[in-house]
Amino acid sequence: MDDVIIVGAGPAGANTALGLTKSGHSVTVIDSRTLLGDKVCTGIIGSECVDKYPPAPNIIFGEPTSAIVTTANGKEYYFSTSYPQASVIDRTEYVAEFSRQAQNNGAKYFLDERVTSVNVMESHVKVSTTQRNLTARCVVVASGFGTSLLSQVGLSKSYEYMVGSQVEVEIQNIQSVRVYLDSLKTPGFFSWITPTTNNKGLVGVISDNKSKHKLEELLKHLALTDVIDKVCGPSRSWGIPLKPINQTYSDRVLVVGDAAGQIKPITGGGIFYSLLCGDIAASVLNECLRNKDLSAAALSEYEVLWKKEIGKEILSSYGIRKFVERIPRKIQSQLVRVAKAHSLIEDIIMNKGMFDLHSQIFSAMFSHPAVSWIFRKNSMDSQGSKFVQDKIVEIGTNKQIEENELVSR
Ligand SMILES: Cc1cc2nc3c(=O)[nH]c(=O)nc-3n(C[C@H](O)[C@H](O)[C@H](O)COP(=O)(O)OP(=O)(O)OC[C@H]3O[C@@H](n4cnc5c(N)ncnc54)[C@H](O)[C@@H]3O)c2cc1C
Repeated sequence: MDDVIIVGAGPAGANTALGLTKSGHSVTVIDSRTLLGDKVCTGIIGSECVDKYPPAPNIIFGEPTSAIVTTANGKEYYFSTSYPQASVIDRTEYVAEFSRQAQNNGAKYFLDERVTSVNVMESHVKVSTTQRNLTARCVVVASGFGTSLLSQVGLSKSYEYMVGSQVEVEIQNIQSVRVYLDSLKTPGFFSWITPTTNNKGLVGVISDNKSKHKLEELLKHLALTDVIDKVCGPSRSWGIPLKPINQTYSDRVLVVGDAAGQIKPITGGGIFYSLLCGDIAASVLNECLRNKDLSAAALSEYEVLWKKEIGKEILSSYGIRKFVERIPRKIQSQLVRVAKAHSLIEDIIMNKGMFDLHSQIFSAMFSHPAVSWIFRKNSMDSQGSKFVQDKIVEIGTNKQIEENELVSR
């Protein structure tokens, strides 16, 4: 019997496996994919992630220092920083490397095999796949967005999510990341073009629904305006949870990564949090395995620790996301114009080093007098703006944003 079975070899599962094998535990990882790490993803990681989990230099496609933001009214704004705040990486290779290291430390991997059931017994867990039955002292559910395994271990999934759709394209002379804010021509919460390598790039849309259809609309627009040359292959879509599940542990079970909803709610980025929480899961399991106590009470330490690291940031960002969704397009466009005019983005990200702290970026922006003025001005003719204005004051004074406050309106 193994110490731990891990379901899923994305960043969450692979890094949990690596941490556990480093401490000498026996680990089996099961993934339904044949190619490790090959999930739809743009592969942008912030500098904090790069510093903590450095990618090999040969898998870094680029380190962009600029972005062109197109607002709903079609205007383009160029933002740049003097040194890179993020890297665009070969996500498949990056994630696979964690698995290779875990395998070198002795982790067993079963690929192209789907876990069909997880049964938690008093003294162990039974995991069945399409090809075999396995047992272990405990299980880590790292099987990503929408996994059906949570209900089998008595936990509930996150029902609030968005959908991301993405496709590879051929592009010429695009150096900057391009971001399109919601508009009729490029509909969705936001859309992007990220240059990768050899005149290729990734075009994607994140939206609450119909993201695939919205991506097609965007591609038509980009082809017509000669921004892209050719679409390479079919698009792929996958869900992104918007907030964490209620509980990420139970007897002999931990849940890590997208399955747990450990994601940045504003951008949908989840690689860094998955890796971080994989480390935390491994260290708590290490302790619990040594103490021979895998009860929910002992494993609850995992939730305490990951929430201490990223819980507040996720909650605040979730609130801000809900808030931004409510800002009328016209005001969104004005905000970007003001951000450019006052060098807000550059100043906040560069001087305060906040690229990964989305809630703080928005808080800093919203507390700027020029931004508050826009909301005040618009409150005269727009219904929702009074609410916006109130929130600005709160966010500006760094009050904790209560989730329900924003969701219920
Ligand atoms: C379009 C799009 C773009 C994105 N871009 C970025 C980005 O640029 N930067 C960023 O940080 N994040 C991005 N994300 C989010 C990021 O991809 C995820 O947050 C991250 O992959 C989560 O890691 P994970 O290990 O929890 O899950 P996953 O990476 O989804 O891994 C889960 C693994 O479990 C396996 N699995 C599932 N069910 C079973 C089963 N029953 N049995 C066996 N195996 C199973 C799957 O095959 C998969 O390999 C993007 C997401 C989307 C949709």
